[in-house]
Amino acid sequence: MTNKTPITIARGDGIGPEIMDATLRILDEAGAALDLDEIEIGQSVYERGVPSGIEDGSWESLRRTKIFLKAPITTPQGGGFKSLNVTIRKSLGLFANVRPCVSYAPYVQTHHPDMDLVIVRENEEDLYGGIEYRQSQDVMASLKLISRPGTERIVRYAFEYAKANGRKKVTCMTKDNIMKLSDGLFHKVFDEIGEEYPAIEQNHMIIDIGAAKVASAPDMFDVIVLPNLYGDIVSDIAAEVTGSVGLGGSSNVGADFAMFEAVHGSAPDIAGQGIANPSGLLLGAVMMLVHVGQGEVAAKIHNAWLKTLEDGIHTGEIFREGTSREKVGTEGFTNAVIERLGSMPGTFSVANYNGVPAGGMQLPPLKPRKEEQKERVGVDLNLNWGGTADELAAKILPCVADGIELSMISNRGVKVWPDGLPETFCADNWRLRFLSKGGPVKTSQVLALMQRLNEADMNFTKAVMLHNFDGEPGFTAAQGE
Ligand code: NAD
Repeated sequence: MTNKTPITIARGDGIGPEIMDATLRILDEAGAALDLDEIEIGQSVYERGVPSGIEDGSWESLRRTKIFLKAPITTPQGGGFKSLNVTIRKSLGLFANVRPCVSYAPYVQTHHPDMDLVIVRENEEDLYGGIEYRQSQDVMASLKLISRPGTERIVRYAFEYAKANGRKKVTCMTKDNIMKLSDGLFHKVFDEIGEEYPAIEQNHMIIDIGAAKVASAPDMFDVIVLPNLYGDIVSDIAAEVTGSVGLGGSSNVGADFAMFEAVHGSAPDIAGQGIANPSGLLLGAVMMLVHVGQGEVAAKIHNAWLKTLEDGIHTGEIFREGTSREKVGTEGFTNAVIERLGSMPGTFSVANYNGVPAGGMQLPPLKPRKEEQKERVGVDLNLNWGGTADELAAKILPCVADGIELSMISNRGVKVWPDGLPETFCADNWRLRFLSKGGPVKTSQVLALMQRLNEADMNFTKAVMLHNFDGEPGFTAAQGE
């Protein structure tokens, strides 16, 4: 191979520099054709007063190479610092986080020896928009955003990943029995896109039982696709259940850019001691090599690594008397992998990346969507109130006129008027739902309503317009409504 692939690397913090050195040595010895450009990220950058943890100039390198091999960083405690990972994911449009979670029994202890699953987590949407409001003295709100194109991309990525990697089944997990619109859309798009992949088995699980099953019976899963927050949690559960969090690699992939890293953090407790396991970053680098079209080198490294595990050459955190043979530090482990380049594992399946497309998944364009008729039918107004629901209704009702009616009042999502239960606990933030008595509602009608409420000293804190789409409500009913 003559053409070297330009990549950007960062050594990070804590054990980062040690495991990056080890990884780069193995990549080099295996014949990876890479042209490295190093940038500085993490603690030292934060301490220079850059709240994002990455200097403006470093984006130039990433823009040029489009590929980032990143060692873990230490996120400083306290306010003012932004998560570098979230910044990088969002800035570079890395919409898919892919985490293979594999057991390496009998060489690494686990209760689930047959586990071999891949988590595909949506990386940009959901509650990670960080759009939050203080609605009153006592109530905070966080906005969960799920979009059709965002969901279509991640779901299709999961199916394409399954197809390219010989995986047989894709499971989607949501909580659409509660979040009927946002999670409902994720589930619906999963079903729609799934129809295009009839050869792949597919199912949906409610996230709570799904997460429990990942913990208790992970071998029933193959590929799991999830919205951002559930994906964050389930991927940590899955990594933990393998018995070897320190062995997990992960990729963050977008249409133009990709970032590869270890699942674990910077492990400051063992930094500088030469005992860190470089496997997580190395497996991240294996995913990177596949991505840049060096699948043969990727397989060579992966197989040498599997053989090293089989030979019982283990770093301290996975070393067990009886199953392990030799306890090594970072350098000893690295040497052992290098010595085995060209060897194949005997017990584990041989890694083979022939036929896995380079450049990540080339996704088809988004499906054209049907233009729906949008009609405003009302408004939800939030306001602060220290009394009861009936007292609030009595204040509001005289302000309601002009073809709009007060249809209900809810508190923390539960209907409390009309006919609320006296037992329902109420906080100091209330939602008033005003609906049209028939036909569309004009902006001027809503503004006039707000004006009348204002004159009655009822100062709302939030307004959300309510629309029907092709006659279907684009808003949910309150609980108990
Ligand atoms: P951690 O993953 O760094 O460490 C958890 C435990 O696992 C520690 O006992 C550590 O010694 C051990 N460990 C982790 N990696 C290991 C390895 N390769 N070899 C041997 N043992 C290993 O998690 P933490 O302690 O919660 O976080 C430490 C720092 O890392 C924090 O500042 C956190 O914000 C950061 N972090 C960064 C990333 C990232 O950059 N992607 C991810 C997670 C955490």
